[in-house]
Amino acid sequence: MPRPQKLKTVCCATEFYYGHPRKHKETIQITVEQFETIRLIDYENLKQEEAAQLMSVARTTVQALYDQARVLIATAIIEEKAIQVGGGHYKICDESSHKNKKGCMKQYGRHHCHDDEDEKEETV
Ligand SMILES: [Zn+2]
Repeated sequence: MPRPQKLKTVCCATEFYYGHPRKHKETIQITVEQFETIRLIDYENLKQEEAAQLMSVARTTVQALYDQARVLIATAIIEEKAIQVGGGHYKICDESSHKNKKGCMKQYGRHHCHDDEDEKEETV
């Protein structure tokens, strides 16, 4: 019996297109939660266990998402395809669950997330 998919906690509903619409004929889709593992593990230098805690999933889930993301990014680079980050199955972290946690985008005033304010307005 398939278990219902659990929402992965991410710090930002990242959405962007990386590429050139005329140069890149094909686009590789990466979900927000796949991209989040790259941010946490490769950019924030967290261990998989730490990333799993932030995302509220098992370490094996983080590893699977991370492996998927790396294959997709490698494919995009080698095969010269654009990257589109967006979509997936996630929720945005809140103050209480990520407060002062290493790797959370919302600490230290690091508001790289451009649509952060919109998110707040929509959910409140
Ligand atoms: Zn966070």
